[in-house]
Amino acid sequence: MLIVQKYGGTSVGDLERIRRVAGRIARYRDQGHDLVVVVSAMSGETDRLLNLAYELCPDPSPRELDMLVSTGEQVSAALLAMALKHIGYQAKAYVAFQIPIKTDALFGKARIQDIHTEKIRRDLDQGNIVVVAGFQGISETGDITTLGRGGSDTTAVALAAALKADLCEIFTDVEGVFTADPHIVPKARKIDRISYEEMLELASMGAKVLEIRSVEFAKIYGVPIHVRSSFTDEPGTMVVEEDKSMEKVLVSGVTYNRNEARITLHGVPDQPGVAAKIFGPIAEAGIVVDMIIQTSRPDGKADMTFTVPRTDYQKALKVVQNVEMDLGIEEIEGDKDIAKVSIVGAGMRAHPGVASKMFQVLAEHGINIQMISTSEIKISCVIDEKYTELAVRALHEAFHLESPVQEE
Ligand code: ADP
Ligand code: ASP
Ligand code: MG
Repeated sequence: MLIVQKYGGTSVGDLERIRRVAGRIARYRDQGHDLVVVVSAMSGETDRLLNLAYELCPDPSPRELDMLVSTGEQVSAALLAMALKHIGYQAKAYVAFQIPIKTDALFGKARIQDIHTEKIRRDLDQGNIVVVAGFQGISETGDITTLGRGGSDTTAVALAAALKADLCEIFTDVEGVFTADPHIVPKARKIDRISYEEMLELASMGAKVLEIRSVEFAKIYGVPIHVRSSFTDEPGTMVVEEDKSMEKVLVSGVTYNRNEARITLHGVPDQPGVAAKIFGPIAEAGIVVDMIIQTSRPDGKADMTFTVPRTDYQKALKVVQNVEMDLGIEEIEGDKDIAKVSIVGAGMRAHPGVASKMFQVLAEHGINIQMISTSEIKISCVIDEKYTELAVRALHEAFHLESPVQEE
């Protein structure tokens, strides 16, 4: 089999762990598998590099920032290949431009466009284990890019798709995909099999165990993903096409996201074209808006509330302040300390009453809902950040996610 494996930051967090990962890869090799291994930076390294940059200047150049943060993965790739050679296995480490893994030029959130596989195939044919630095790419103009936080997952799945690998294994610090973040909900249950679609919603709603784009890639190219622990040999979670053997559950998981901020515009003229005048400049500033709610008032004006990534909060405030006078907006206010709590499940399609139960549970715990959004298979509520854990645990309990069979 040709297997692409990815080891996350904690799994390669120190030399002892790198040695252990090398040992695991060696066992696979002994079984006759061809292996391409993608690594993240050692845990904490990407944050350390980002902190250095922001300590130096508040607004570092995106090009140089990518050049800086991409180095973490180069270190772990080189160390892992060394560790493999040290125990007698042929291995070769690469950074993205050597492959090359080509991306667009959107620094910090580049998209993979093309992966050349010739070099990897040649190395595999010669008996090498190929180690690739995750999270990075090279633009058409030869600049180093990065794919966004958690992007090594995407490198791995994209490589698996390009190489038509039999399997993509994501090794991380938990035993698979759980019904909620196991670090917040001790009773969370490991899900054995989950569809791409549900996984995509879980990832989009904050379950960072898989990066969103990696799931998109897997879904488009039909790459089976096995999410599992790098510290045990227990099977983890298979992320695959939806099939009949999957648990028919109403709700498959509860997620949270603390990376957004809310902005509210009071007294916006309720006229055609106003929303475009507000969200046009926000889009031009490269800010991605998530939820939007507009409520009409009896006085012919409207209140408009929306969420943006927390890192873009100040920038977004400035943008709306620029159009405040022009549009005659009465007041602008916002809150950075919010959290979005969501429940996800394919079973919701056919069952009414899930949303009302969610609202009821939050109400019983005295948690005020600031915003609501729904899709076919998820419901999200924006709440005060300080209630995040309470809300996630309460919802997990109320929907009986700790036991495999839920009443429908
Ligand atoms: P890695 O460094 O291996 O990429 P990450 O920290 O990016 O690891 O992702 C793994 C983490 O995702 C876990 O430690 C866990 O806290 C978090 N997580 C959030 N939601 C879930 C979930 N539903 N199932 C499993 N892990 C989750
Ligand atoms: N090292 C990068 C990060 O911390 C990419 C990854 O770990 O997947 O976001
Ligand atoms: Mg990750």
